Amino acid sequence: MPDSPPPGRWRDVAAATGLLAADGSVAQTIFAEMTVLANRAGAINLGQGFPDVDGPDAVRQAAKDAIDAGRNQYAPGDGLPELRAAVADHQRRHYGLEVDPATQVLVTTGATEALAASILALTGPGDEVVTLEPFYDSHAASIAMAGATHVPVPLTTDGFRLDADALRAAVTPRTRMIVVNTPHNPTGTVLEPAELEQVAAVARDADAIVLTDEVYEHLTYDGAAHVPLATLPGMAGRTLTVSSAGKTFSLTGWKVGWLHGPADLVTAVRTVKQFLTYSSGPPFQAAIAGALADDEAPRALAASLAARRDLLCEGLTAAGFDITVPQGTYFVVADATPLLDRAGVAAGPGAGHELCLRLPDLAGVVAVPVSAFCRSGSAAAEATAAHLRFTFVKREPVLRDAVDRLAGLARAAR
Ligand code: PMP
Ligand code: GLN
Repeated sequence: MPDSPPPGRWRDVAAATGLLAADGSVAQTIFAEMTVLANRAGAINLGQGFPDVDGPDAVRQAAKDAIDAGRNQYAPGDGLPELRAAVADHQRRHYGLEVDPATQVLVTTGATEALAASILALTGPGDEVVTLEPFYDSHAASIAMAGATHVPVPLTTDGFRLDADALRAAVTPRTRMIVVNTPHNPTGTVLEPAELEQVAAVARDADAIVLTDEVYEHLTYDGAAHVPLATLPGMAGRTLTVSSAGKTFSLTGWKVGWLHGPADLVTAVRTVKQFLTYSSGPPFQAAIAGALADDEAPRALAASLAARRDLLCEGLTAAGFDITVPQGTYFVVADATPLLDRAGVAAGPGAGHELCLRLPDLAGVVAVPVSAFCRSGSAAAEATAAHLRFTFVKREPVLRDAVDRLAGLARAAR
């Protein structure tokens, strides 16, 4: 084997997601790293966001029935017609969006593939792709795979809201795409109509495509309403809307995702997507087509998640973290600055990661550092250097146990 690393864009991907170490070694995603750590240490895993209760019995039974009914060969590249129709119906019912299932909907292998195929199809070297920062890691990875230039725009440090001036200032004649994520991972921010209108105005002025990641669309709290960007005036014609069944139905491993948008953009994305996976999982697609007609299960999940959010937020506050209460998603961001000394962690750029590595020993709990969602050295990375993301998509007794364990941090701190 040659000593030099193999060529190709994989190093750009690693660098763009903070996984390339100074010595040239490459780590796995922060979610994988922290899940391995949790399993090894026997700690409660509040790092990677996945539920510890599987989605509805009827939906799981429908997938088994589809297997038994012989739906086991390739699905059409666009996705099963009944799922495309169910996505269109869902968008009409919830948001009043009119989408043609035949030409404007594409089923994908999770939202991850929808995002990657969109960015690969529509951007390339010389193009700038704007995201908010912190950003979900796969957004940065896909931009790097496309060879485009990532331009992250920090959310405000106080409350993680859109900074419209910063967004406008980030746009140049080379801006090809603006990637938005609401409800937002990791911060839990749900962009308000006024903020969405500011994004829309910038996109229209720049004549940019908007790619909007709405996988947590049904997981909002305290009356915060999710508003798809595509519903804003003049936006349907330039917006690709991405979602997935993983979060809505607590079936993250099924990787059933989709996107919709104007037919010309969907054609472009389909062109790439058909050579990534072509298609996947017809029994899962069939089951989700049925599930999407059910509005009650997601509503019940959101209500129960709101209570679990409150439990974890109270526990983190009692343990000495300074939290930002999320209005959506699976996650709460907690500033650990007041605890660093007691934890024996020096303040600075690596503080959050270092604390996450120590947290299993200190408290028997695993989280992920918010720095993993930022470009290394950026203003957002600096502002969130000591911030951790905890998930509350766990059963209440598990969260109670985690909160009890974290309380030890406060005691140790005194
Ligand atoms: N976008 C965001 C913001 C996410 O948090 C996730 C994580 N699940 C995804 C996309 C990926 O979704 P999927 O599992 O459907 O690929
Ligand atoms: N979306 C999940 C999270 O934010 C992680 C998914 C993954 O591991 N790629 O925790």
